[in-house]
Amino acid sequence: MNRIGQDATHGDRSSVSRRDLLKGLAASAAGALLPTGAMVAQTARPALGPIDVHQHIGGTGGLGGDWSVQRVMDLMGKNGISSVIFSNAGTGDLLYTGDASGRAFARKFNENAAKIVSDHPKIFGFFAAIPFPDSDGSLKEIEYAYDTLKADGIGILSSIGDAYPGNAKFKPSWEEMNRRKAVTFTHPWVPKCCLTLFPEARDSVERDFDTTRAFTNLLYTGTLAAFPDIRYIVNHSGATLPVLAGRIKDRVPGAATTGGKLPTAGITPLTPKGVFYELQKLYYECAHAAYAAPIAALRAFVPTSQLLFGTDFPAEDPSSTVEELKKRNLPPDVLRALYRGNAERLFPRFKV
Ligand SMILES: [Zn+2]
Repeated sequence: MNRIGQDATHGDRSSVSRRDLLKGLAASAAGALLPTGAMVAQTARPALGPIDVHQHIGGTGGLGGDWSVQRVMDLMGKNGISSVIFSNAGTGDLLYTGDASGRAFARKFNENAAKIVSDHPKIFGFFAAIPFPDSDGSLKEIEYAYDTLKADGIGILSSIGDAYPGNAKFKPSWEEMNRRKAVTFTHPWVPKCCLTLFPEARDSVERDFDTTRAFTNLLYTGTLAAFPDIRYIVNHSGATLPVLAGRIKDRVPGAATTGGKLPTAGITPLTPKGVFYELQKLYYECAHAAYAAPIAALRAFVPTSQLLFGTDFPAEDPSSTVEELKKRNLPPDVLRALYRGNAERLFPRFKV
């Protein structure tokens, strides 16, 4: 497929002038500060609204349920969203088999997503799924996703079977993603270790704790420092990372503060630039975590340049994030960066 050619065919943003851009951004920021429900009357998808980096494909090709591209577009209009980047979610058992079935699952997801994107290239994008435990399969899928399907990045789940993503067996895939300067989107998954301990909590706290474990693991294994050209996106306002970052810092292997008292003392530091440097270079999307406390913690921990917008539809109603964000009274420049300015840096093809 030729996305560039199809962009020209759709041409839905090519004629927008700089003045329209600035007007649109101002309107978008102002709209975010309107009272709840004030934007409901707006049904057409805006050209300069937020770029949603956290959505999933539902229906028979994905999470199931009543899902269609038209329904996504209707919700985008209702909530003032301009573009959506889809990713795989909740299918780790099918994807991370380590055999041919995992490769087939990844291929099917990616080709289905690429078809939706090719039909609406300026509206949609996708993070390709890779069968992570299968190194050769993952390398082949990264190549196919980027070179043939023109994926916008790579999606991984927070835990992979019994391992976290910094495990040495995944190194070839990280090397390749770093070589391609990939944008990676990490989606929460319920870890095997905790699946049965407290099953009622799997969709509330377990997923966010798994995100926290995944990035702590990427930090402690030196993965974040070893692959600096990857642009990593963390889900749900960083889960508990912004709040726990200080405690994580003081326990990282080789941390100066161990003072020889902890068993990890003396190990060569895996984060030569420091823990905060590594965690503050990550990007954080705010899907279903735009409540007062997570946004306050996130803004206290990372600069505005690292904030992204997400909704987690169809797992969550997009209005839950949109309406909560309106209540945060964020300054217009912060909203502009969070809604689309930072995403345009990561995904320049969505730039107006
Ligand atoms: Zn999700």
